[in-house]
Amino acid sequence: MMEPDAPTPRPRPRPRVLELYSGIGGMHYALKESCIAAEVVAAVDINTVANEVYKHNFPNTCIYPKTIEGMTMDEFNKLDFDMILMSPPCQPFTRLGTQKDVLDSRIKSFLYILDVLPSLTKRPKYILLENVKGFETSVARNKLIQTLENCRYSYQEFLLSPTLLGIPNSRLRYFLIAKLQPGTFCIQTSNEVLKQFPDLDSMEASYISSFSQMLSADDNNMEGINADCCANEIKNGRDETVLYKLETIKHVKQKQSQDNNSSMQMIQGFLEEELQDPSPYFISTKSLLRYALILDIVGQTCRRSVCFTKGYGSYVEGTGSVLKTASDVELASVFQSFETLSEDEKLTQLAKLKLRYFTPREVANLHGFPPEFSFPEKISLKQRYRLLGNSLNIHVVAKLIKLMVE
Ligand code: SAH
Repeated sequence: MMEPDAPTPRPRPRPRVLELYSGIGGMHYALKESCIAAEVVAAVDINTVANEVYKHNFPNTCIYPKTIEGMTMDEFNKLDFDMILMSPPCQPFTRLGTQKDVLDSRIKSFLYILDVLPSLTKRPKYILLENVKGFETSVARNKLIQTLENCRYSYQEFLLSPTLLGIPNSRLRYFLIAKLQPGTFCIQTSNEVLKQFPDLDSMEASYISSFSQMLSADDNNMEGINADCCANEIKNGRDETVLYKLETIKHVKQKQSQDNNSSMQMIQGFLEEELQDPSPYFISTKSLLRYALILDIVGQTCRRSVCFTKGYGSYVEGTGSVLKTASDVELASVFQSFETLSEDEKLTQLAKLKLRYFTPREVANLHGFPPEFSFPEKISLKQRYRLLGNSLNIHVVAKLIKLMVE
């Protein structure tokens, strides 16, 4: 007699993910990269331009083009989600400021989420939140922690930058991962805000040690710094002395140490092969003259760049690095005695560097967006930079999702 077939086990349903403040879908890409078999059941964002980009890349994901505080309890419950991935708007959250954080209308939606969480028919097993540095000392953060503790979540906070993964872009951000008890993390959680990935101790340690070695290096060992321009300052050991372009010896040393750190990738690996039309990326003469001294300039062989923010391409100051495409021209040679030059002479000098903005594709590459990510054609250059500046580093978040779920 034949044995009756054993009932085939039903495939476990894939975890259902709710992506809040979804923007252009950085969290969705991170989830994909983490290889966790999960499904984004809804992406909520009020920004119609961001939603268009999201739809373009994830045509099958359901977008709720509305405010989070406009979602009803019933809508939340029906989504029956197991995980929340969210990046609430990045306003200044510091306790030192006016403590406006929880009063700020832009955080209303976040407080609403904290109200909703305890009342859900089913609490999600996982929560991941991304925010700017400064959130960790905010009143909003304290309310979040209080809610998580009341709702019986274990959690871990982090302050992490993509540089920890060898990506030559600084983007220090606050992250929190939380897991509903009795679930536990594969790492020992701590009350401290961790400044590195739990499994990357050795890489981080070697980076920090090579970095601090460089900083404390005997001045005579400084390779590569233009010997003519700073011999006196080096002899005097005056690290605060301005060399050129408002940069002190200390700054230059720091940058050199970053560029010599072979555990970091070079910028050139993130650049587009050849730009068909580079003209939209040139920096206007007016901006060049006005901001030349404070531009953060990186070459293709550098291993660093500063954080790209939403004003990149529109505002120069502090919005992200610009690229020196003339590889054979040294910054020091262009900026020597710069202040003494006439405007025309300054422009002639600056033109030698062949500076341009990073393209949106290049910023996306540094943020870890996969090659298949693209913008609908009608999205303007300004809008692309704005959306990317608000987004996140996919590799960093993918690693945290894994850490949270595994
Ligand atoms: N993680 C996203 C970006 C988040 S930026 C990405 O990868 O692109 C914050 C986003 O929150 C913005 O897109 C903004 O439109 C959205 N937002 C801000 N307040 C909101 C609210 N009350 N309801 C819904 N979306 C909101």
